[in-house]
Amino acid sequence: MKILVTVKQVPDTSGKVAVNPDGTLNRASMQTIINPDDLNAVEAALALKDELGCKVVAFTMGPPPAEGMLRELMAMGVDEGVLVTAREFGGSDTYATSQILAAAIGTYGVEADDVILAGRQAIDGDTAQVGPQIAEKLHLPQVSYAGEITKEDNALTVKRMLEDGYMTIKVKTPCLVTCVKELNAPRYMNIRGILDAYQQPMTVMTYETLKDHPLIDKETIGLEGSPTNILTSFTPPQKGAGMMLSGADKATTDQLAGILAEKHII
Ligand SMILES: Cc1cc2nc3c(=O)[nH]c(=O)nc-3n(C[C@H](O)[C@H](O)[C@H](O)COP(=O)(O)OP(=O)(O)OC[C@H]3O[C@@H](n4cnc5c(N)ncnc54)[C@H](O)[C@@H]3O)c2cc1C
Repeated sequence: MKILVTVKQVPDTSGKVAVNPDGTLNRASMQTIINPDDLNAVEAALALKDELGCKVVAFTMGPPPAEGMLRELMAMGVDEGVLVTAREFGGSDTYATSQILAAAIGTYGVEADDVILAGRQAIDGDTAQVGPQIAEKLHLPQVSYAGEITKEDNALTVKRMLEDGYMTIKVKTPCLVTCVKELNAPRYMNIRGILDAYQQPMTVMTYETLKDHPLIDKETIGLEGSPTNILTSFTPPQKGAGMMLSGADKATTDQLAGILAEKHII
């Protein structure tokens, strides 16, 4: 058994967000972090590894510096990293991204008792489409919004978090599960892990590695091959400072009514 986790390096949206003229993110000019939901997916994988002794492999599609993020994951306990990187893959939308990641995972190999974990959603693209699309393209069953995962023989029991409750689903392996933050509290890197991180295996998959996979077609990957394109994206202007009125007397309520009338709100 092994657990394959998809992890995206995303811009730290608490800092400045820079956008290229073609609408894609200017990632080079921004600080990056590990996508938060993906840390929950990694923690779930490592907890299953602690319990069952299985191997955990992290996959990321991104520019070469994303290797640093994979090393950070190794310092947490991940056994192997797969960096999927090529100029041909740049600018991919969710359709193309899932196509490429599914090809990479398929090339690595999915066996009968394997589990694929993804975050529910990336904080930059924010679509929550990539995990389910990977499952579809690999013809695997999927469960989204996992808030609890347990494994028994060739099946997982997943507590699926909904807005107003939860649903418990049993799914056979191999399968894909998308994870939400309620699932766990991600662990930190540890000293032993940091020392070992650079000894762990790193596989790089390029366009050359994947080009013969049935899911890889130059017409359906990268910016040119993506069925959706971002036309514009922008950072909304900061709102002005708010106004505080205090007092419960008539003068204050008259003042409030006057301000609202002036703004044509009442
Ligand atoms: C502002 C903005 C708007 C966008 N709007 C759209 C849109 O409407 N339609 C569209 O198709 N694309 C859109 N994109 C492009 C989108 O960022 C990319 O397609 C991206 O590769 C994946 O989509 P996502 O970030 O929404 O991932 P999500 O589907 O939210 O990610 C879910 C999970 O999939 C995995 N995952 C996703 N990407 C990777 C990766 N590169 N490597 C490893 N794991 C990964 C992670 O586990 C992640 O938690 C948009 C991008 C931006 C910046």
